[in-house]
Amino acid sequence: MGSISFKSINKKYEDKFHAVKDFNLEVADGEFVVFVGPSGCGKSTTLRMLAGLEEITEGEIWIEDRKVNNVEPKNRDISMVFQNYALYPHMNAYDNMAFSLKLRKTSKKEIDQKVMEAANILGITELLKKKPKAMSGGQRQRIALGRSIVRNPAVFLMDEPLSNLDAKLRVQMRSELTKLHKNLNATVVYVTHDQTEAMTMASRIVVLNAGEIQQVGTPRDIYENP
Ligand code: ADP
Ligand code: ADP
Repeated sequence: MGSISFKSINKKYEDKFHAVKDFNLEVADGEFVVFVGPSGCGKSTTLRMLAGLEEITEGEIWIEDRKVNNVEPKNRDISMVFQNYALYPHMNAYDNMAFSLKLRKTSKKEIDQKVMEAANILGITELLKKKPKAMSGGQRQRIALGRSIVRNPAVFLMDEPLSNLDAKLRVQMRSELTKLHKNLNATVVYVTHDQTEAMTMASRIVVLNAGEIQQVGTPRDIYENP
């Protein structure tokens, strides 16, 4: 379903700045992999290449048994959650969650079933009629997660999804995301600069620095035996 293979990935911006250097990584189906490292080390760029939002300068990315270099984002069996939630402001929570399914000509009945199921998992059934501006940051983030879940992708991509939340909510959402991952049985690739997030959620951590992989291992490998 959701295994990922990065084969010698390089990213150069405008043929000059070498943002990602010879990135090699195999992610097994169902893993929760966290890319961690200081700002500017190439985490987002790598994630965005996997999402198809950024061109790959050199190398190949495979999802399961398919090379995706030239596959459109919407056909990659992935879904991405952003730091700023990227919700549609004029739509209520239900319509935000239903939107991508409508685009895919899913039946009303199936949309309703999927939205309600995701809303139950995330505990947001009470929010479905609200618009984003009437919600708290944590509620918005749950809607953004719901929008991903309804598509039932093999791979979830998350780019600093908790950074805009206050500290208390961040702690709560960390354990919710861990539960959610177990529940969904999907692969997660998660980007953060926060070591605590990496440590508490990852099955495997990839430490990046200046565009290069420095270390790959379990949280114990990385933080207990540095
Ligand atoms: P991170 O997510 O780890 O903070 P990024 O992947 O966003 O890092 O960025 C990696 C490097 O690439 C940074 O030095 C950044 O300034 C540079 N970069 C990112 N996007 C662009 C772009 N569109 N044009 C030129 N340089 C960029
Ligand atoms: P969704 O909105 O549920 O993510 P779409 O099918 O509308 O799904 O989006 C198609 C692709 O565009 C997805 O891969 C998604 O990650 C990406 N995308 C969605 N919103 C944004 C955004 N604000 N900025 C960049 N990419 C986005």
